[in-house]
Amino acid sequence: MDPNILHNISYGMYIVSSCKAGAINGQIINTAFQITNDPVTIGISVNKKNLTHEYIEASSLFSLSILDEKTPLSFIGKFGFKSGRDLDKFRDTAFVMLKSGCPAVTDHAIAYIEAKVINRLDCYTHTLFVGQMTDSKMLKMGRPLTYAYYHEEKRGTTPATAPTFIREEMPGVKKEVAMQKYRCVVCNYIYDPAVGDPDGGVKPGTPFEEIPDNWVCPICGADKSQFVKEG
Ligand code: FE
Repeated sequence: MDPNILHNISYGMYIVSSCKAGAINGQIINTAFQITNDPVTIGISVNKKNLTHEYIEASSLFSLSILDEKTPLSFIGKFGFKSGRDLDKFRDTAFVMLKSGCPAVTDHAIAYIEAKVINRLDCYTHTLFVGQMTDSKMLKMGRPLTYAYYHEEKRGTTPATAPTFIREEMPGVKKEVAMQKYRCVVCNYIYDPAVGDPDGGVKPGTPFEEIPDNWVCPICGADKSQFVKEG
């Protein structure tokens, strides 16, 4: 079995939000898909450890915001690598409160869908929730962010809690010796000196040691002390 093959399955990037007794939370997911057309049902896979999972279990409601291709990494970091137990993710995020009490994120979203859970399947670390669509709105024209684009163009990373997480290893492939790469221990983002971090003001060709001390991980916001040598 070669788990690297699974990288060839296509996904999108979404924020799934839910509510529980007036509290709201949301997180990034990549595993979301339409199951049927009449009525419209949607499947989502959510890690059981996540706060949003607890909220969906409690309210049987979720919304799915379809992210725009232009979504910045820092926004994905807030919803993908931080827990609602530590941070109010909606404090500085645009969203609408739906009649059901479930929020839907509108920041960087081209559309949202609201669904009521009609079924669920226990899948080891995750629950596969099946929801029937109860509301939906197109917010703007745009291209939906795909998981491949996130990885290849934006150089985004995957948290270990995601259903599709695989350690980045290619057996038998020897990497070229190049400038030392560094990995963020919080989110697994790899700083590659050859690429730099142009959005963060770091030019390609900058060794990690020469990055200013106030630089932070473009995905999760961790500071330089949270980086370790990679490989
Ligand atoms: Fe990070």
